Amino acid sequence: MPRAEGARSHGEFGEIRLDRVSRGFDGVMALQDLDLTIRRGEFIAFLGPSGCGKSTALNCVAGLLSLTGGSIWVDDRRIDELPPERRGFGMVFQNYALFPHMTVRKNIGFGLAMRGVPKAEAEARIDAAIRLVQLEAHGAKLPGQLSGGQQQRVAIARAIVVQPPLVLMDEPLSNLDARLRLEMRHEIRRIHQELGRSTVYVTHDQDEALSLADRIVVLRDGRVRQIGTPEELYARPATLDVARFMGYRNVFEGELDGDQGERVAVRRNDLRVVGIPRDALGSGRRAAVAIRPEDVLPGPEGADAISGVVESVEFIGREYAATAQTPTGLLLHFRSHQRLHLKEPVHLRAAPERVLVFAAEEGA
Ligand code: ATP
Repeated sequence: MPRAEGARSHGEFGEIRLDRVSRGFDGVMALQDLDLTIRRGEFIAFLGPSGCGKSTALNCVAGLLSLTGGSIWVDDRRIDELPPERRGFGMVFQNYALFPHMTVRKNIGFGLAMRGVPKAEAEARIDAAIRLVQLEAHGAKLPGQLSGGQQQRVAIARAIVVQPPLVLMDEPLSNLDARLRLEMRHEIRRIHQELGRSTVYVTHDQDEALSLADRIVVLRDGRVRQIGTPEELYARPATLDVARFMGYRNVFEGELDGDQGERVAVRRNDLRVVGIPRDALGSGRRAAVAIRPEDVLPGPEGADAISGVVESVEFIGREYAATAQTPTGLLLHFRSHQRLHLKEPVHLRAAPERVLVFAAEEGA
């Protein structure tokens, strides 16, 4: 969120606006009509599966790719025809892109030297950046003497030391192991909270996007599927494929079986579930149900339960992740606090407010 006056820099702005930003490669659209306003201090994640256009979008903002349509504005100044260095955004890449023959301090200070920042001021800014990423003990080392996580900290310090109006990060954690990835995720959040720099962060990892971003832009096939806060995307995905991407692993189709005010029922063979409609649903039409495994729990037998037998059980820490098969062959993912046995009968329920009902996909 926006910071106090003292944290402002030469790069301050009100908002950065992407207006129908598009990029094609030989007529194939990698990104189409991206509309987005990035507010000062906001952390935006571009999220989507491989090939959805997220790096293309980031590179268009950075100026590494030219647009084939649309425009980009910093307040009322159009910037999409400026080369990357005149946009002055900070970049952090997956592969760090550090100079191997330069010390950590020299790497971090490189952009300041290029901009002709006086030496005393540059030294003070490098000190502040090194402190911020907690590398005080490593300033004289070469990148090759650092761990992957430390190298990524250098890359982050180098990007922010020039006080850019916007920091762009392209999957910065994907070369790190799982533990370090978590640690660096906290670091990136902390640094963002401390500096309040607007940030655009590309990832295919929904947990990363959910934990870091103020708003998430979900892309698929070069188009925006949904823009929203993590809470909105988690609880109210706009489409079935956003729901799938947000961890709604149980997706199955059935016939609409009446509505009850705010809720609709869907019948599939012998089972019936009640949920919240997310699309306009005509009666008698086919519908798709989406439920997270975390929202399906075993309980007592009853007409409102879905019965099945346990097919797999996996201990995941606090609880068990399990699957059950219904008599008509539907496989449901659920959670259990108790250890279950294979082939044991279970009776599953999901609270209707956690069950989303979409129009069935064409041709599904
Ligand atoms: P990943 O996570 O795998 O990097 P992404 O979501 O970042 O994927 P992009 O790299 O933006 O995806 O690519 C989007 C689409 O544009 C893909 O279909 C890709 O093949 C295509 N594309 C990207 N760069 C080029 C290029 N230089 N020439 C031709 N096609 C390209």
